[in-house]
Amino acid sequence: MGTLASLDNVFYPPGGIGYIMSDIADLVHNKIQGKKEIIINCSAQPNSHPHLGTVTTMMTSFAVGKYLGDYYSLPVKVIFDQLENSPAQKLTVDGVIYQKSLADIIQDGQSLADKNMEFFRYIFAELSKKTGVPHIIRSYEEYQKLPTVRRVLLQILQNHDRFARIVSPSDQKLHVRFPCPVCKFADKHARTIKIMDMTEDSISLVSRCFEHGEHKITIREDNQDFVDFNAALRDLIKGAFIIEEDQENETLSIMVDGGDWSGVWALRVHCEGLLELGYSQIATRVFAPVIVDWSGAKFSKSLYVRKGAYDYLPKGLIDFSAFLSMYGMEGFDKLWGEVQEWVKKPSKLFRNYSVDYFQLILDK
Ligand SMILES: [Zn+2]
Repeated sequence: MGTLASLDNVFYPPGGIGYIMSDIADLVHNKIQGKKEIIINCSAQPNSHPHLGTVTTMMTSFAVGKYLGDYYSLPVKVIFDQLENSPAQKLTVDGVIYQKSLADIIQDGQSLADKNMEFFRYIFAELSKKTGVPHIIRSYEEYQKLPTVRRVLLQILQNHDRFARIVSPSDQKLHVRFPCPVCKFADKHARTIKIMDMTEDSISLVSRCFEHGEHKITIREDNQDFVDFNAALRDLIKGAFIIEEDQENETLSIMVDGGDWSGVWALRVHCEGLLELGYSQIATRVFAPVIVDWSGAKFSKSLYVRKGAYDYLPKGLIDFSAFLSMYGMEGFDKLWGEVQEWVKKPSKLFRNYSVDYFQLILDK
């Protein structure tokens, strides 16, 4: 009898898609005809140094890109959407939650987002070197300016209640917000935000800062007033955006996200949202394995930030800077070797892995 946690004791039962697919290249076989390039799209909030789950998801993006590019003899690139608009600081005033983003907190002349991106940039450079797959880092600031993104956002805002029911089932409010120009705090749940003026191609919104009063933006396809929206809207708008881009450029874009965004989230927010927008297709998506703790819960960055949650684990697994000093590039290569195996077999890619499993691999 084997011991409970042992690398001799790892199983890959087929589950779901694994029953009907023996090679992940078959997933895009019906979509690749006439395409000139494969684009892998991934994103992350640089709200701390990347932890194990973030690193393996980034690795999965490159491994999927490399595998499909080789299989179909097409050029591939990875586009990483950096979410420097993610909240870094929160404040409640009169029952309204305000947030300040990673981009708007400056320490020693550098934003918190830029500071945390250091390790993300390092990992991307390493993965591009290993695979020959180039990457582009796109800031949220650049992304929200793109005419297609703004056009889809306008369509959603013009039909507020219909979309709010889909992407915000409990709150029924679209979380579109923008920071006060003076103090940079934004109304997280859009409690004070009102539509002032709406035409077919333009919407003006007003928000109220707890200290500096009302401030206003206008959203048009061709203007650049900064506008932020929450994860559900990002997920839906990204889907519409890449469908449009692919049609225009004859590319095949594949969204790669952590597996915690699959299942009911993807069906509800992404698929129902795209149907409501009038699309008759959905974006191609691949979900990376979720790294789970001993109880099966997602290994979570926000829990890691809450002191003590993972005190029982080696620090290298929760913070990439500690990972490098503990396991070195040899450890990085072990992880990369593991992820490369995943993309060769659907039964290895479409399942989750525990932190304990990685400890065994890294200690091997
Ligand atoms: Zn203010």
